[in-house]
Amino acid sequence: MLSSFVFPAVGDLMDWSQPGYWTSHVVTLSYIVAAVLFILSLRGLSSHESSRQGNNLGMIGMGIALAATILAALSNGPGRGVLVTALLIAVAMLIGASIGIWKAAKVEMTGMPELIALLHSFVGLAAVLVGYNSYLAPDVQAVALGGFHLGEVFLGVFIGAVTLTGSIVAYLKLSGKMSGAPLMLPGRNNLNMAAIGVTIALMAWFIAAGHSAWAWIPFILMTIIALALGFHLVAAIGGGDMPVVVSMLNSYSGWAAAAAGFMLNNDLLIITGALVGSSGAFLSYIMCRAMNRSFISVILGGFGTAESTGASGDEDGEHQEINAEQVAAMLAGSRRVMITPGYGMAVAQAQYPVAELTNALRDMGVEVEFGVHPVAGRLPGHMNVLLAEAKVPYDIVKEMDEVNDDFEDIDTVLVIGANDTVNPAAEEPGSPIAGMPVLKVWEAKNVIVFKRSMATGYAGVQNPLFFKENTHMLFGDAKASVDNIVSAVRQNA
Ligand code: NDP
Repeated sequence: MLSSFVFPAVGDLMDWSQPGYWTSHVVTLSYIVAAVLFILSLRGLSSHESSRQGNNLGMIGMGIALAATILAALSNGPGRGVLVTALLIAVAMLIGASIGIWKAAKVEMTGMPELIALLHSFVGLAAVLVGYNSYLAPDVQAVALGGFHLGEVFLGVFIGAVTLTGSIVAYLKLSGKMSGAPLMLPGRNNLNMAAIGVTIALMAWFIAAGHSAWAWIPFILMTIIALALGFHLVAAIGGGDMPVVVSMLNSYSGWAAAAAGFMLNNDLLIITGALVGSSGAFLSYIMCRAMNRSFISVILGGFGTAESTGASGDEDGEHQEINAEQVAAMLAGSRRVMITPGYGMAVAQAQYPVAELTNALRDMGVEVEFGVHPVAGRLPGHMNVLLAEAKVPYDIVKEMDEVNDDFEDIDTVLVIGANDTVNPAAEEPGSPIAGMPVLKVWEAKNVIVFKRSMATGYAGVQNPLFFKENTHMLFGDAKASVDNIVSAVRQNA
């Protein structure tokens, strides 16, 4: 299938008098162009400077892919006539595009992870539906492939069903509609292994049964097991590990799309699915490394996470408060300032006054840098996008690893709406976030924490930073607090 895409038979190339000759070659050529544009798009998305161009290339690629697929559908329409096929495609696209545009226009940046999780569930659902359709109404090529096609269908439905329920659970957890705490069923790893073992046995039964009525038993059983497995895999992951789940489901949705590509005999869908699947898997791996988590543990649904006791980091203490004018005076007397943003900055939309404060301090000769934790916010790269949006220069926005040894030399750290990512409890064995690297802000001379209350962060772990001698709490909405500091800095200048 793939080979005929890359190397069409020489006879086919020459036979331009056949009906559909031009259409099939235009479609093939368009698919190659779209695939190359998708690869260039991924490359563009790997850095801030080129990300806009990467997005544009991806959109052009998708436009070409859609046009070519519609052309292919119109020329191979299953005997119902071009007009009816065109009408069905137009109605489906109109409904899909309207929902997509409405959702994208409405979503807040902080709501992106749950929207992405929901979109992944659609890919999973599509793979399940394509699988059932492909089993019920196989085309000529599928019939010729026999058992191989049945294997494709079985795997496609399995991956799709796992992605479907896994993504729905991720959506519910991220949007707070379901508890974020990991579900710790007794013997959960054995349950997962048993589900996979039974699925392999059902696959053998399904292929052997072919298109007889018996095949429905393993097919339906597998679908139920896969739906339950998707639920269980993601329900077992919680708190600080959720970022990895988002990118892992991204990967699963890619493999589900690739599986649908095999069933539909669509080479571009196979390529695109494989690109999404492998880049999502790689991103999950990078995030696991950044968070000191085992990749295998996370993809196996929190395998090995039962040891945390949640006991550490629960201590309370006396905290000290500070006001905006005092912070402004402290900043004016600082030589080096580090800003560590977190989810609260996104909620408050404080990035704009933060950019203003940065400019005001730099004008006064204060050295300002940003230290961004890899999982700060609710989406990989969330903080970088917000800071770029507010026009903070890229060169002062640094990764955690670049700044983590510098804190001893920092006069004032502004922790703006961050909590888990600056929590020293991560250095204590037994803490639910134990082992997760954090920004060592407490090593600086002064730490100012901007938040509204003493509440915990996403992982639900108390933060001993708030009670340290060199830490002061500035309570209130982060945007209002930074606005007040900017006014005070300007007045004093
Ligand atoms: P946290 O969620 O740990 O903390 C955010 C803090 O912001 C809270 O303590 C909250 O305190 C404060 N806050 C909320 N709203 C405001 C506001 N309007 N003004 C001022 N403060 C506010 O954020 P971090 O960025 O430090 O850590 C991210 C966490 O999210 C990690 O646990 C990570 O694993 C998880 N996560 C990350 C994802 C990713 O891909 N990056 C995806 C999913 C989860 P208060 O309510 O008192 O104001």
